[in-house]
Amino acid sequence: MHHRGAVRSSRRHGSTVVGGHRAYSTRCNAKKPGKAVAASAPAAYRGGAQQHPVGLPTAAAATARAPGRPQDVLGHAPGPVLPDFESTLQVGETPVLDLSHLSRNPAVKILAKCEFANPTGSIKDRMVQFVLKRAEAEGKLQAGGTIVAATSGNTGASVAMLAAMNGYNYKVITNAKCSAEKVNIMSAFGGEVVVGPSGVPADHPDHYQNMAITMCDADPSFYDLDQYSNPLNPESYYHTLGPEIWANTDGHVTHFVAGGSTGGTMSGTGRYLKDQNPEVQCVMADPEGSVFYDYFKNKVPEEELIAGSYLVEGVGKDSIPGAMDFGVVDGILQVADADSFETCLEVAKTTGVLIGGSSGLNVHGAAVLSGKIEEGVIVTVLPDSGFKYLSKIYNPEWRNKQVNVTAR
Ligand code: PMP
Repeated sequence: MHHRGAVRSSRRHGSTVVGGHRAYSTRCNAKKPGKAVAASAPAAYRGGAQQHPVGLPTAAAATARAPGRPQDVLGHAPGPVLPDFESTLQVGETPVLDLSHLSRNPAVKILAKCEFANPTGSIKDRMVQFVLKRAEAEGKLQAGGTIVAATSGNTGASVAMLAAMNGYNYKVITNAKCSAEKVNIMSAFGGEVVVGPSGVPADHPDHYQNMAITMCDADPSFYDLDQYSNPLNPESYYHTLGPEIWANTDGHVTHFVAGGSTGGTMSGTGRYLKDQNPEVQCVMADPEGSVFYDYFKNKVPEEELIAGSYLVEGVGKDSIPGAMDFGVVDGILQVADADSFETCLEVAKTTGVLIGGSSGLNVHGAAVLSGKIEEGVIVTVLPDSGFKYLSKIYNPEWRNKQVNVTAR
């Protein structure tokens, strides 16, 4: 099988670059009102309300100029002295949840980065912010332009948010597997959401990735985020999630567990952690039915891979993306849908947090791994929020019909 996803790899962005040690701030905005912003930062990302590419007044200026409000000699409206508050939510610097109660070995800790704490409720805010910033800096994304992205739902939400905040149009293409919640979040910011069929082969013209290619071929002015092949995707995690995990654990992380779709999370984070300590082991959790397991474990050639179907969203794949670097992967674990969803319910009951299906998959993978090693600190990610799957994972009717998982 020669699918267009593979054809596309040949017109990718040069070599895969995961590396470089330039410090990168994950903050969406300057922390303090009035804080100086680096002149080199692209205007659109200089900080939400303070600098806006479409020329909206800054928050401070708007307050100062508000008609009818008394002003002091400096032009400030008097009022209570308050602490500095953020004018937007930050991307990254997510909290860590201790899930060691799910470990099968008391000598193994399980820690999880709460990526649902990002503004659109997923890990993808990190990647999309990083890629768009670079696209602007390199002149690939022009003011008022249109961003196109093929997505299982989360990348589309991040594109929608950042496009809306920075004056771009967006067109995101997903497929029918995408939860209604994720489709609604993508459209909430005012752009176009195309929902293609699910279950079509990777080389089919109606496969959501190929629909994005066709759309961009038809209008070369569109900026294609191209997350499945864009080397900036893994690079974004190399500069954000990797350093955070290293700092959060004081360098004591021994294992990193994550599922893959584009492979950006695993490739970039894994590479960073291994650059700090080559002993760190990276283990992929893969849904039963994804092609990664056969490709990595059974060495099935790319063109012979056959994808099955599974219910967990946003993770696993039907082809091998260019952004996925199997060079960082040390092991792979297959996870059944029922185990992913049962873990979601277990985490809900024991921590009070509603996590997404791929988070359940990752945590289950981490729990299985904990039973196979003597000691260590396993770090995994909770890529998105359970709020995105209320109609599915957390709906007993859907669950019973689909996987027969009941809350314990
Ligand atoms: N979980 C969810 C919910 C996702 O949306 C994604 C990305 N599609 C992933 C996991 C996998 O992340 P990556 O694309 O970086 O491999």
